[in-house]
Amino acid sequence: MKVTLLGAANEVGRSGVLVESGDNRFLFDYGVKLQDPKPAYPLPVHGYLDFVVLSHAHLDHSGALPLLFKGREPKVFTPSGTPDLVDILLRDFLKIARMKRQEVWFENHLKRLKRSLQGVDYEKETSVGEVNFKFSDAGHILGAGMTHVQADTTFVYSGDYKDTETRLHAPAKLENIPTADVLVTETTYGNREHPDRKALEKEFVNDVKSVIESGGRVILPAFAVGRAQEIVEMLYANNVDVPIYLDGMAQDVAEVYLEYPELLRDYQELYNAMKEVNWIADERERKRVFDEPGIVVTTAGMLNGGPALYYLLNFRKLGEDLAIFLTGYQVEGTPGRRLLKTKVMDIDGNTVDFSKSRIKYFDFSAHCDKNGIFRLIDKVKPQVLILNHGDPDAEQAVKEKAEDKGAYVFSPKPGETIDISKYVK
Ligand SMILES: [Zn+2]
Ligand SMILES: [Zn+2]
Repeated sequence: MKVTLLGAANEVGRSGVLVESGDNRFLFDYGVKLQDPKPAYPLPVHGYLDFVVLSHAHLDHSGALPLLFKGREPKVFTPSGTPDLVDILLRDFLKIARMKRQEVWFENHLKRLKRSLQGVDYEKETSVGEVNFKFSDAGHILGAGMTHVQADTTFVYSGDYKDTETRLHAPAKLENIPTADVLVTETTYGNREHPDRKALEKEFVNDVKSVIESGGRVILPAFAVGRAQEIVEMLYANNVDVPIYLDGMAQDVAEVYLEYPELLRDYQELYNAMKEVNWIADERERKRVFDEPGIVVTTAGMLNGGPALYYLLNFRKLGEDLAIFLTGYQVEGTPGRRLLKTKVMDIDGNTVDFSKSRIKYFDFSAHCDKNGIFRLIDKVKPQVLILNHGDPDAEQAVKEKAEDKGAYVFSPKPGETIDISKYVK
């Protein structure tokens, strides 16, 4: 077996892992890296592909898939639920690319991808040629899977995962992951630990309540997939008793989540929360939000677009009566990161000052931290460990600790091929 990282090699974004096993060639994920001035893509795939495995819908794993449909039409296997989310995310990505004149794939490629995309339930075995594989729940977002593969070598591809509970999802099913010769794991938080989730939720809810009790308004920018729904569920479960509004693409995603009760930790709680919340359908409704103290949960999570900008611009005059609580990781170079650091950001070409308002970041994450990464490594006990989906510092931290345990550890560059047969006995 040979493994080549086409992207997400010492970086987060543009995932793509090519595996050659005997006569079979297959690919895990093919995503984009969202950055300015334009998205980055993984290295191209030369030659034939027997099939593709998509671990989950996030664009850093799915955004380049339509490129594979220029002159080919491989089957794409993915956990159930993911095809619905891919449809929402890729259509939105194409719309923005079109506006910015940055399209590298088009409607017809997306159509062919959707035709070839096949949802498979967790723990159900699929066979293609001499390759058998199964997905297990990754606890990351709806329809995220860790893949275990039986080919000429046994192989686990983690995708993005979280092995501790969140409001939305049960922990990743590490108990269903077998030992394997090779493990490719994400290392996003390879050098960090998360705060205790329950304590963090308590702090978050208390802060929201204290703003509301003093007559203020709260803007909660949130990622469209998972985070926005989780925040609404959290506010509901903690009896936050003021109008809560949900705006942006998070609404379409919430509809999908409610179609898959079996993939949620507590369907009823999410259902009740979504029934209580006010869904914002248009501009007219948007104007009425905040007539009285209230909370709006809205995309984009890092403030690089979406209705969040409308709320920030129109309610900045509230000054100290406005709180902006960021509910997800703010990547370097994003408007959200700048707001957090400097209390200013650019909206529609103007620099807007939020220094009077309350701005705070809460480390809610859908990834495991360094302890979770080692719980997976200890479960799989790989002879060859390949690290991806992490900044260089994060990959290095995992590499050093894993080498002490005696595995061959690789933290490859894009395009680097690892010949597994040299290391696996
Ligand atoms: Zn992800
Ligand atoms: Zn990812």
